[in-house]
Amino acid sequence: MRTKLHALQPASAPIQRQLRSLHFGRASSGRKAYIQASLHADEVPPMLVAQHLITMLRQIDAAGLIEGEVVLVPMANPIGLSQEMQGTLCGRFDLATGINFNRHYQHLSAALIPLLEPVLSADPVHNTVRVREASLSLLSERAASPTLTETERLKLTLQTLATDADLVLDLHCDTQAVMHVYTGTPLAEAARPLAQLLGAQALLVALDSGDQPFDETVSRSWWELAAHFGPERPIPLACFAATVELRGEQQVDDALARDDALALLQFLRLKGHLAEGPALPLPALDLSSRPLCEPTPLEGVEPMVAPHHGILLFFKSPGDEVSAGEKVAEVVDPLTDQRTPLCARFAGRLFARVSRRYVSAGMRVCKVAGQQAFRSGKLLSL
Ligand SMILES: [Zn+2]
Repeated sequence: MRTKLHALQPASAPIQRQLRSLHFGRASSGRKAYIQASLHADEVPPMLVAQHLITMLRQIDAAGLIEGEVVLVPMANPIGLSQEMQGTLCGRFDLATGINFNRHYQHLSAALIPLLEPVLSADPVHNTVRVREASLSLLSERAASPTLTETERLKLTLQTLATDADLVLDLHCDTQAVMHVYTGTPLAEAARPLAQLLGAQALLVALDSGDQPFDETVSRSWWELAAHFGPERPIPLACFAATVELRGEQQVDDALARDDALALLQFLRLKGHLAEGPALPLPALDLSSRPLCEPTPLEGVEPMVAPHHGILLFFKSPGDEVSAGEKVAEVVDPLTDQRTPLCARFAGRLFARVSRRYVSAGMRVCKVAGQQAFRSGKLLSL
């Protein structure tokens, strides 16, 4: 295993933070998997899963069973980790700009098209190499800019580490939630075994969820370029990418984290990133159990909104099925005694809810995954 330290540009404070990436296997064979933990720095379960991944990947590497390279960033956001305010770690938004650390990555499709026009051929393997070269070149041009902020440097470094990978997993968690996974619609079938191995209860898919989250920034260009260049110059879906939400923020448990790490490595094995051999420290791959969910559109997720401020009472928990019209929660205004029910418009599964129990008007309090697409525009929460 090799450790690389990536210096982040000093901000106004006289501090230079570093990002640490761990590289298992050898880059020379061309296969590459990339996993990062806790891009939202206050989401702790992914960091613990990464600790188990380090132990397991060291063993697998020592046995010579890594195909190509596996890159692990066990803590993806050292800036967010330092944003402690009045006893609370604020790791979701960059406090300097208010921008979510998982939004506004470089979406490269438009800039790639003129670069690829003269170099693509009828060979999809050749085209994959050209797309990756051109993507890295665009990111490296941007990295040369002297005006990047520390957070922009962090985002660019993470995107550069992942952009030429065949498989990218961005590990997060929600506030109170069951395991769930986000991916691109063209990757839904490929994501089924990942969801199954993890025991995910929602698999949410979108072509473009809005505001360029990390996983889409390394996967979406592939289907957009394929559509643009057509069958004469075929471009495969060369990067599988998904955001994995490792349950709720309080579910920080060594046994759970070990199981999650095993599930992620089983998926890497299934996708050909780990070689089979008696020394592989993983149980036999078993996909015979019934999946806990089918892919559903992100446009079908109903974010239930508090109609006014007040005390929040839930009648449903993460993982519960909800019928259309069923009461999920109530908001009780202690100034007027008004009690307002929150009822689901559509049937589905409640997969995540907030942890606070006093809410303001307009706040999203929980999310229900339904089968029917009814939303459009920006599909992710803030
Ligand atoms: Zn997150």
